[in-house]
Parts: sequence; structure tokens; C-alpha cells
Amino acid sequence: MAKEITEMPVELVTTELPDTKTLRLKWPDGHNPEFKTGQFITIFWPDTPGYKRAYSLSSCALDRGHYEVTIKREGKMGTRIVDWAKAGDTFGVLPPAGKFLPVLEPEKHLICIAGGSGVTPFRGFVREATRRELATKITVLYSVRTTNDIIFNHEFHDLAAENPNFSFYVTCTRLVPEDPWTGHRGRITADWVREQVHDLPNTVFYACGPNPLVEFAEEIVLKGLGVPKEQMKTEKWG
Ligand SMILES: Cc1cc2nc3c(=O)[nH]c(=O)nc-3n(C[C@H](O)[C@H](O)[C@H](O)COP(=O)(O)OP(=O)(O)OC[C@H]3O[C@@H](n4cnc5c(N)ncnc54)[C@H](O)[C@@H]3O)c2cc1C
Repeated sequence: MAKEITEMPVELVTTELPDTKTLRLKWPDGHNPEFKTGQFITIFWPDTPGYKRAYSLSSCALDRGHYEVTIKREGKMGTRIVDWAKAGDTFGVLPPAGKFLPVLEPEKHLICIAGGSGVTPFRGFVREATRRELATKITVLYSVRTTNDIIFNHEFHDLAAENPNFSFYVTCTRLVPEDPWTGHRGRITADWVREQVHDLPNTVFYACGPNPLVEFAEEIVLKGLGVPKEQMKTEKWG
């Protein structure tokens, strides 16, 4: 059966970084879908209905009335959206799908590995856990090139201040040595991930983003740390 398509206007465009924007897509009146934090929607421009692309929700299931997706200027669709999408445009939207879901149980620890724009669904994870005041621990390990590339930097720091169970760590891979950044430098390593683990059986690992990043995270977690496959969820963007 063909999936139901809903037309949604862009209510707001927020520039997160020069090459990254968040679109807020407004639900039509009476639209009240069931979906889960961590899922993605598939969208298309009405003039090219054959060219559809998936975007992880950067909002969470508690956010009602709209979806938010955060898009990097990458490839055909990413470039068209970041350069041209504006409030009032309309997109065709297929319903949320996917199984990249946070296990929001009290004793669990979610270690979320992100590179570049792969951080988008983790904003939804942390938003939901924080608003619901959950005991679930969430740690985001985020790899970016420089301090100018951190998406949702302020929001993640605000969430960490509000939620004692959430930690946000960034590593920068391409800073010049004289840069004043005092945080981590270099790629995500097995040792850095291992340092975050306090109760391995209750830890769930997540990795999201372009394939090389996710495959690198799988290498570290599954091979480097010897974690069983069932304890890792990945979302590969291609
Ligand atoms: C489940 C899912 C969720 C996704 N969520 C997001 C999201 O939240 N934000 C987002 O910006 N993109 C996301 N993407 C990628 C998005 O669907 C598009 O592929 C992207 O916007 C590029 O557009 P295109 O496919 O037309 O590019 P094309 O011109 O077909 O080129 C695609 C090329 O770009 C690479 N690529 C795709 N996306 C990225 C990226 N973000 N960073 C680096 N390289 C990339 C691919 O490896 C490929 O080589 C997601 C993809 C999937 C499958």
C-alpha cells in the first residue's frame, strides 16, 4: 500500500550553522500522528515528487504540531534545501519511520556517537529524556572538524545544565595547534568511548550519520570494546 503523503508548509527556517538549517514543518489542522523519537521522515519538493530524501527528526515525539529536521548542505537535496527553502514553501512528507529509537529505561545508559550532521536525532533523544525528567543516562560523543561546526552547541549545553543524567562531549579533529579550545582533540577513539562505560550490560550504543562515521563507530564499539551487536543501533545515511 502506498504511504500516505501529507503536504506541510515550512513554518520556520533556523540557521544553525552557515551550512546547516533546521526546517519546521507545520502539521495541517487535525493531523495528530503517532511516532517515536529517533524516527525519520521522508520529504520531497512538490515540483520533483520522484526525488525523495529521508531526514531524521531533530525534534522529539513530545513536540506536537510540527516536525523539525536539521539539514546539512550536502548533495543535491541537502544543497537545494539549505540554499532555497524558506518559510511558506510546501513539502510533501511521508510519515515517520525507522527503528533508531532511544531505550529510555531508567537503568540504561545510552552512549551516542555522532559526526557532523549525524547529531540530529540525538537532540530528540535528549529533549525527550530531559522533559520527562527520566533517569536514563545519555552521553553524546560528538566529532566535528572545528569549533565552528558544532550543531546545537548551546542547546546541548543548556540541556546538560538542566539534566544531570546527560553529558555532552565534543572532539575537534582539525583545529590548528594554537586554537584555544580546551576540550578533546582528534578522532573518537575506543579508549574515549570505554571511559564513558560504567555498566556495560546496561549500555546501549548508537551511531548516526554518513556511512564512514557509522562504520568507524561500529569498528570501535563492536570490535574494539567487544560489545555484542544487539547492544548497538546504527542509522546509516549513505
Ligand atoms: C534515515 C536517514 C536519515 C537522514 N537524516 C539526515 C539529517 O538529519 N540531516 C542531513 O543533513 N541528512 C540526513 N540524511 C541524508 C539525506 O537523506 C540526503 O542524502 C542528503 O541531504 C544529501 O542529499 P542527496 O541524497 O540528494 O545527495 P546526493 O547528491 O545524492 O549525494 C549523496 C552523497 O552525500 C553523502 N551524504 C549524504 N548526507 C550527508 C551528510 N549529512 N553529511 C555528509 N555526507 C552526506 C552521501 O554519502 C552521498 O555520497 C539522512 C539519510 C537517511 C537515510
